[in-house]
Amino acid sequence: MTSGGDAPGMNAAIRAVTRSAIYNGMKVKGIYRGYKGLITGEIEEFKTQNVSNIIQRGGTILKTARCMEFKTPEGRKLAYETLQKEEIDALVAIGGDGTLTGARIFAQEFNYPVVGLPGTIDNDLFGTDVTIGYDTALNTIMECVDKIRDTASSHDRLFFIEVMGRDAGFLALNGALASGAEAAIIPEISKEKDQLSDMIEFGLRTSKNSSIVLVAESEVTGGAIGAAERVKKEYPNFDVRVTILGHLQRGGSPSAQDRIMATRMGVAAIDALLEDQRNVMIGIQNEQIVYVPFSKAIRNEKPINRDLLNILRISSI
Ligand code: ADP
Repeated sequence: MTSGGDAPGMNAAIRAVTRSAIYNGMKVKGIYRGYKGLITGEIEEFKTQNVSNIIQRGGTILKTARCMEFKTPEGRKLAYETLQKEEIDALVAIGGDGTLTGARIFAQEFNYPVVGLPGTIDNDLFGTDVTIGYDTALNTIMECVDKIRDTASSHDRLFFIEVMGRDAGFLALNGALASGAEAAIIPEISKEKDQLSDMIEFGLRTSKNSSIVLVAESEVTGGAIGAAERVKKEYPNFDVRVTILGHLQRGGSPSAQDRIMATRMGVAAIDALLEDQRNVMIGIQNEQIVYVPFSKAIRNEKPINRDLLNILRISSI
């Protein structure tokens, strides 16, 4: 089952889970539209051919959805009844923070084995160095910023480019490093200080005619529009523009890294079930597969590497 926001590489994970399960003599069923399909019984038996020719495709062939009903005990009971009716003994849930939170509650409530895979472009799950979809999204951001840079430098403009990342600045910070942007405004730091005025005081544009700043979409940062409005008011001499990358960042063919990682994690999910592991998320730390208890993956805030901020500052003078 895939659930929540889609991420490139989810199909590679579905493929690996399916094939590894069949390889190990299990039967596999695909659940469509996340927890919604689990409640309504939108389920199909999967053979190896069902996952042919999907490794290179973005999105998820199982579709995904957000399901408010699963947040209620009644909804989860219906989901449990579907699993029993379908004779499904264990669930592999691929999704982000919300999906794994739901999985954890469900697993505890019904003493049911669930293994999670971290599928989100935000990279905001604790206990894994990277999540499925993050690398592809980062590459998409880099390509978009490269294009915007042409206009920024032709017109001597200050561009605020908004990228995804709800409560986490991984995409904004690493996207800025990869694309040679001047700065990144991210929730982790914005909570502590006014990054925008810091940035301007530091001498934005002193040595350059154009500047690009990546802003994580978040209430804390105020997003790219918030930053642009402030600059227009406080520093009217800047020629400011805003680009919001939006859902562009989610789509596209997964990168080699995402395909490889999703495949490794998918196989690891079946290994975990064979080892009687339950209620764990598969993670990768220092290239090694690890099992992270749901409670840790969800509850803990994954720290960003603050050294990267300094590197960004040094490399953009
Ligand atoms: P993501 O998995 O990408 O973070 P969401 O936050 O939308 O996406 O979560 C996906 C789904 O997981 C929700 O629509 C809901 O069905 C389920 N979910 C999220 N939080 C909870 C919760 N606290 N209890 C039960 N189910 C939840």
